[in-house]
Amino acid sequence: MPLPPIGARVRVPVGARTMTGCVVRHDAVVAEGTDVKDVAECVDAEPLLPSAIVELCCWVADYYVAGIGDALAVAMPPGARGRTSAFKKRRIATLSVMGSDPGDGATQGCESGRNRGLTPRQRAAIDILSAAPGGLPTSELRDRGVTPAVLAGLAKRALVVLSDERDDRDPFERAAMPDVAPDASRELTGEQQRAADELFALAHAGAFRVALLHGVTGSGKTEIYLRLADQVRRTGRQVLLMVPEIALTPSVAALVRGAFGNRVAIQHSALSPGERHDQWHRIRRGEIDVVVGTRSAVFAPLDRIGLIVVDEEHDSSYKQEETPRYHGRDVAIMRGSREGALVVLGSATPSMESYNNAASGKYARITLERRVLDRPLAAVRLVNMRTEYAEEGPDVVISRDLAAGIGERLARGDQALVLLNRRGYSTAVFCRQCGDTFECPNCSVSLTVHRAQGGWRARCHYCNYSVLVPTACRKCAAPYLEHAGFGTERIEEQLRERFPEARIGRVDRDSVRRKGALTQILSKFAGRQLDVLVGTQMIAKGHDFPGVTLVGVISADVGLGLADFRASERTFQLLTQVAGRAGRGERAGEAIVQTLYPEHYSIQLACRQDYRAFFDREVAYRRAMRYPPFFALINGVVRGRTFDDAMQQARELVRRLEPATLAGRFTVLGPAPAPLGRLRGEHRVQFFLKGTKRADMRNALLQVVAGMPEIRRRLTIDVDPLSVL
Ligand code: ADP
Ligand code: ZN
Repeated sequence: MPLPPIGARVRVPVGARTMTGCVVRHDAVVAEGTDVKDVAECVDAEPLLPSAIVELCCWVADYYVAGIGDALAVAMPPGARGRTSAFKKRRIATLSVMGSDPGDGATQGCESGRNRGLTPRQRAAIDILSAAPGGLPTSELRDRGVTPAVLAGLAKRALVVLSDERDDRDPFERAAMPDVAPDASRELTGEQQRAADELFALAHAGAFRVALLHGVTGSGKTEIYLRLADQVRRTGRQVLLMVPEIALTPSVAALVRGAFGNRVAIQHSALSPGERHDQWHRIRRGEIDVVVGTRSAVFAPLDRIGLIVVDEEHDSSYKQEETPRYHGRDVAIMRGSREGALVVLGSATPSMESYNNAASGKYARITLERRVLDRPLAAVRLVNMRTEYAEEGPDVVISRDLAAGIGERLARGDQALVLLNRRGYSTAVFCRQCGDTFECPNCSVSLTVHRAQGGWRARCHYCNYSVLVPTACRKCAAPYLEHAGFGTERIEEQLRERFPEARIGRVDRDSVRRKGALTQILSKFAGRQLDVLVGTQMIAKGHDFPGVTLVGVISADVGLGLADFRASERTFQLLTQVAGRAGRGERAGEAIVQTLYPEHYSIQLACRQDYRAFFDREVAYRRAMRYPPFFALINGVVRGRTFDDAMQQARELVRRLEPATLAGRFTVLGPAPAPLGRLRGEHRVQFFLKGTKRADMRNALLQVVAGMPEIRRRLTIDVDPLSVL
């Protein structure tokens, strides 16, 4: 058997079964005494994955402390674990060569011979087909009255040839994307042009470089990406455009499609496996110039990549919160460096990591200070909810200012967005008499209450456990159940009560569960069939709705209470981004922000939309506290059936790290109960490694884990964690 190439699939015996694997290396050294087995069968003669992608996966597995199999699984097209890849086929009918020249005299002469005895319907079919030299799909012929029986009759007489061809499923066709033709004649603003020129120069250098495009919301970054992509494409290299969530920004995908036609592929997890499969193979066959996709698109099998754009690079959805816990932006940078591509990170609110790298000169920094056409940024007004409670009572949810603002917009026919980053109706129900509350039996959280058919349902947002809320207390039978706290469902209800004429929609994970529901609501809002859109952070992302002149934020401080060193950064980003949704059309925009902490710096500076001031302040804090970007973190969570069990294991692990910490290589914090102390019935204890040499930290941890085989399945390792639960 010839040596299967790297990237090819092979069948290998594992225990009693045979499984599909992928060739990663030829020269691996195995420890003596290891039971090495022969490959049973080679599935691919040619590599399925390009070797550059295999190497990238190896880097991901190593850096993020994951199995190589897990990393390869992210890069593989769906269905690759099977033996063959099924294509959807369609049947094409073509006039056979003999019958294909109806205009030719010689053929005319034969008419009486070959075509004699045809039924009128068969003759009609020949007429239709003779006008289509490339043949027609049988489905289309059927629409034109040519039945399969008619075609079969013609095929039998060798007048028509039936053949199967691959039918690539095109996700653009059914995505109901807004119809946006790119305006090629549109002139870039001076600022856009300068930014584009700098980026063109970097792209033409044809070498690895990272550039941070820091442009305020509405400064026209998308337009720059498109022009840059076009330039790179003209030099024969390919482009990868990464976006946080395609469903939330369908217009970007549509714009790219409009600009580059069918040389564009789309890659994201909301596609059906069949669609993803087809798109992946089109890329692999080299039929594609531009790929638009979410984080896993970073593994797209492009082989001449010249440009990677990571739009909204600060967005936390680039981080995969399951093994392998990779960050799409960071893998993009690694890929760019290996393949000599320009990597452009775009954002109005860059991550601390990226901006710090730009400030230190490691990345090129390109800034857009103004919105296109000199539209002003939204004016932001703070509402101090403590004053509001004092004057209006403790049950106020929508302040007087915000209600007045919404009323004005409705009267003018403008649109409004209302953000509350918490879903559900209320955050808890409790008994007024005995205080009984609803907690999750599996997780250490109280259940969120949702409106349900015929009453209320309390649900755990972590494990999905749910119970119907009875009308009387379970413990004392008192009929006094009361709601505490509020979520998006309650905001929607209050707005409907207050503005019965308004057309109101809601976007959160509950309202968009059904496939296509999100696109539907967003396109209704874009088409101005809705006046007000209430939602979680999903409504804060990259949208461009020119009709929105007011953005309301219900509780700006939702995220500030969390014991997380990124809480200020997240709050600043969310507020700046959502305020950036207002005033993108001809009329100026305004944001009204309700908060209990109007003096908090991330709220103050988001109001002024002063990124630089925020960065300076936050970076000082991070440096003083030895947090990222100055120190690297690795988070470990040990799970156990009891708390003591988890804690004891974690203590043992940390104890074994002691020689390394005593040598000053890094520090270890913990173990301590995780913020989410219990999850799905398991107790959780966490610890952190903190230091400046990631590889050293990783290796020390791996070495310790290797000596504790019993901990492996109960330990989750997260390198560069974004959220710590
Ligand atoms: P960002 O991504 O920076 O927030 P967008 O790329 O969404 O901004 O652009 C904001 C709006 O400005 C969009 O509606 C876009 O079509 C429009 N736009 C971009 N560039 C120009 C230009 N040069 N002239 C006119 N309008 C523009
Ligand atoms: Zn739960």
